[in-house]
Amino acid sequence: MSELSTLNIMYLPGVGPRRAEILKNELKVVSYEDLLYHFPYKYIDRSTIFKVRDVDPTMQYIQVKGKIFGLRTLGEGRRKRMSAKFSDGTGEIELVWFKGLKHLKRTINPDYTYIVFGKPSLFNGSLNIVHPEIDREGQSNTIAGTGMQPYYNTTEKMKKSFLNSRALQKLIYTLFKEYNGKIPETLPACFINENRLMNLDTALRVIHFPPDTITLQKAIYRLKFEELFYIQLNILRMKNQRRYNNKGFLFSKVGNYFNRFYKEFLTFELTDAQKRVIKEMRRDLGSGRQMNRLLQGDVGSGKTVVAFMIMLIAIDNGYQTCMMAPTEILASQHYNSINEMASNIGLKVSLLTGSVKKRERDLIDTSLRNGEIDILIGTHALIEERVVFEKLGLVVVDEQHRFGVKQRSRLWKKNCSPPHVMVMTATPIPRTLAMTLYGDLDVSVIDMLPPGRKPVKTMHYFHNHRNRLNRFLKEEINKGRQVYIVYPLIEESESLDFKNLTEGFEYMKTAFPDNKIEMVHGKMKSSEKEAAMARFVSGEAELMVATTVIEVGVNVPNASVMVIESAERFGLSQLHQLRGRVGRGADQSYCILMTSYKLGEETRKRMEIMTQTNNGFEVAEADMKIRGPGDLEGTQQSGLPFELKISNLSRDGAILSSGRNSAAAVLEKDPLLEHHDSRIFNKQLTKLAKEKINWSMIS
Ligand code: ADP
Ligand code: MG
Repeated sequence: MSELSTLNIMYLPGVGPRRAEILKNELKVVSYEDLLYHFPYKYIDRSTIFKVRDVDPTMQYIQVKGKIFGLRTLGEGRRKRMSAKFSDGTGEIELVWFKGLKHLKRTINPDYTYIVFGKPSLFNGSLNIVHPEIDREGQSNTIAGTGMQPYYNTTEKMKKSFLNSRALQKLIYTLFKEYNGKIPETLPACFINENRLMNLDTALRVIHFPPDTITLQKAIYRLKFEELFYIQLNILRMKNQRRYNNKGFLFSKVGNYFNRFYKEFLTFELTDAQKRVIKEMRRDLGSGRQMNRLLQGDVGSGKTVVAFMIMLIAIDNGYQTCMMAPTEILASQHYNSINEMASNIGLKVSLLTGSVKKRERDLIDTSLRNGEIDILIGTHALIEERVVFEKLGLVVVDEQHRFGVKQRSRLWKKNCSPPHVMVMTATPIPRTLAMTLYGDLDVSVIDMLPPGRKPVKTMHYFHNHRNRLNRFLKEEINKGRQVYIVYPLIEESESLDFKNLTEGFEYMKTAFPDNKIEMVHGKMKSSEKEAAMARFVSGEAELMVATTVIEVGVNVPNASVMVIESAERFGLSQLHQLRGRVGRGADQSYCILMTSYKLGEETRKRMEIMTQTNNGFEVAEADMKIRGPGDLEGTQQSGLPFELKISNLSRDGAILSSGRNSAAAVLEKDPLLEHHDSRIFNKQLTKLAKEKINWSMIS
């Protein structure tokens, strides 16, 4: 029997060259296998047949059985339509069609009995159904009246060629008949038993032709489990391979730099969480294996000082280190805070960004090569070819997801042996997404804020509460605090947004005549921006009107209020990120979300989540539930590295966990999948790597 993936869909009866072309362009369906794995996106239970007298127009979908008669054409031109009467002896419903009129005229026969399915509505006081699905009773391969009806995604172009959901189902029906054999299994038999899974052949038949909900659930579980299992198996195998292949520098000691900084210059007590993650990383660095660790921690949890102390361990062992940040603002802020700490103990720190002048650059290049620079901080400029270290031992990447994986791996190819890698992120990533995107990294979490921080109070105001807002801002300013007012600025509506921003600025000037107000936005020259920012940082200006350019990297502990205008236009993680700009000092801080009065369901929920929790992980989980993993900050730019055919990371966390456990158990016995028993796994991984998954996107 030929492999399903080599059988061309064009030769499936009912397809042919023209439809094959459409299936390829619209759904990327080329082979029998592709069509089999085009799963329904929903099912509607069609086991019940209603009596017309019991139908009321508020019902979602109904199914009735009876005769169709009195077919006639109405209207002219674009309003031309067809109408018919349906009766089952208990009452009548009008059926209406705007398309496919010729076909209807040819096929509808008043002598036949039909099963009619659709959404009922009330028109001129009587029941009708627009574009019902109709099937002759007892006709072969229809699902009507029998059970769960699957619905497949289709496109307008497909519908024009009569490739609607029903047609796809018929093609799949034909496919099973044509193939006439068992679909080959993609998991070993004993594995299927151990995990109590349905076999693949049954699962694929059931998902397209479900006999009942319970069997369908089992089929869906099998397919989801397999999908998530293979992703985890691949990630964990890569992790094993790296562990076997990459020795990693041994940082055997904690030396003078670390100890001096810790004893003499660290001005605060580390939180227990900070101490714990430092220990976790010290263990990695002393193991002789390459460290690959993700450090997660909410904004303000103190990741920078942790990163610095890990850098000190590298330097104590005779190595150089570098830290890469996604923007110039962030890089220079890291530079300032790290340089301040490092200069105390006599270390050399340099900043390398795109705007460093040539002479300075040359100097950096030289002192990197001869090992004078201990810590290099910068942007993408760090990964350029010409940047060569004498002895790079540790790479810290901040705000990981803003970098492509390729860029990162270029950074650690700067040595023959790979340096240790620590990736920091302040955007908390939901657990399931982290497991999938960074599943081969070890994870450390700073799950508490430094003591004395009061959680930011978040409030939701409508635009017509402006006077109340202004009174509140005045009170805060009179206490000596400072205020941010952030406006959305989105490319698509840029000019309108810009008008809002500048009008907001003018308005604030009239509302706060006694205060100094600055404005920053992306269109300003960077020298102007910096000057305005500096006047705010120094406290000279009390209010700062800005776009999201201030989202990352601004640290003004005296700023205690963050007003977010048109908050409905921001995503949850962005709102949380902006909120992280306040609450950095010891005073009570506030985040005020301004929205219009009329809000959609989803937006109201977002505002509610913001006012209810300060916990970044909870916000991220909620965000993923609302928007789905593909739209989350962090996956937006890079995209998910694979397309999930059936699983949903926000809903299938439990299946993902058991898939990961099973994958770990498999690798426990056979770390690199070399045994004979693992050949199915291997074959399947090779296939996935070729077809579906862009593994290079995974770090
Ligand atoms: P993150 O990078 O995680 O957002 P930072 O490292 O910028 O957080 O820390 C935020 C602020 O908290 C900095 O001013 C830092 O000096 C301070 N800080 C960090 N750890 C502690 C601690 N254990 N106790 C008090 N202050 C701390
Ligand atoms: Mg930081």
